[in-house]
Amino acid sequence: MSINTINRKALRLCGSAALLIAALAAGTGAQAADVSSQQASAVTAMPRVLLLATGGTISGTADPRSAIGYNSGNVKGQELVRGVPGIDKLASINAEQISNVGSQDMNDKIWLQLARRIDEAFERNEADAVVITHGTDTIEETAFFLNNVLHSDKPVVLVGSMRPGGSTSADGPNNLYEAVEVAASPQSRGRGVMVVMNDQIHAPRWITKTNTTAVQAFASPNAGAIGYVDPASVRFVMPAVQSARAALSLPANGQLPRVDIVYAHSNMDGRQIDHAIADGAKGIVVAGEGDGDMSKEALAALDRAAAKGIVVVRSTRLVSGFVNRNVEVDDDKRGFVASLDLNPQKARLLTQLLVANGVTDPFKVQQAFSGTW
Ligand code: GLU
Repeated sequence: MSINTINRKALRLCGSAALLIAALAAGTGAQAADVSSQQASAVTAMPRVLLLATGGTISGTADPRSAIGYNSGNVKGQELVRGVPGIDKLASINAEQISNVGSQDMNDKIWLQLARRIDEAFERNEADAVVITHGTDTIEETAFFLNNVLHSDKPVVLVGSMRPGGSTSADGPNNLYEAVEVAASPQSRGRGVMVVMNDQIHAPRWITKTNTTAVQAFASPNAGAIGYVDPASVRFVMPAVQSARAALSLPANGQLPRVDIVYAHSNMDGRQIDHAIADGAKGIVVAGEGDGDMSKEALAALDRAAAKGIVVVRSTRLVSGFVNRNVEVDDDKRGFVASLDLNPQKARLLTQLLVANGVTDPFKVQQAFSGTW
């Protein structure tokens, strides 16, 4: 095989420096010298990014109905990429449409499809990194889900926008540019799943949406952003942390078990919790008051749930702070789990994954919440 054939193959099949080096090693020294430095740098400088489009405002168009109205999911992945000047200089991007939904309609089926496609792309060495375009309403949940089930440390960057294409302050093009920039950056290796919004890079465990309409809607209140990005630079301010990751398996039957969230408030009775028990929930997460509190009636209903082997998790309806064990509620005695820094929607997801993996013992569930198992 001539070195040119090897080069063409290496360029077509892998585009990664490691495989080019392998191709060079396969040739003779003289042939290897034929490889021009431009070819080598073209290969090393062009990471392959697989873009998986799921819908959301980032693929929406402004709607003439009202000043802030829009139709989510009008623009497909490949078109999105074409609309961002200079993005083709960052990476070679291959776009695939996974779904076309507002993220309020994100569901188990799409999550499993995403996880399987990403695993496949990395296993077959089709891509060096993945970028997922997503609606902002539940982007934190998808990021958290993927972080718990993907087994590769290659970068997976989720990105959305608060304003649709065609609006006066559309933030999608810059967010997408920066997401690809982060995905393509050598600094992102070993960091797994991240979310890029509005010049910031966030970790799945901590990011949450904090505003209904503002462009600066995302924050990680308990930890801060893990890094910052602008069109010229990517800067991480925190080292890569993988300890908080459970690496759970996807459910074999393709469906996550039912876990309900019940919102605590004054004058709360136990009826919603009893309904969840009667409806066959395998777990109940309470979005508690303060540090995960609720009324005596609600606690008594949760005792009934725990007695049936249902996983009971106390989280908080507040946006920051930890829910610690055994502060105002005796979790040890009642067999409850404290969600620590996981908000109710992420506590729900982790509980679903744990139950799907056969983990229901409160002590083990607590360890998984702490990232210490
Ligand atoms: N509700 C839609 C969604 O989450 C639009 C919100 C957005 O993407 O910003 O997909």
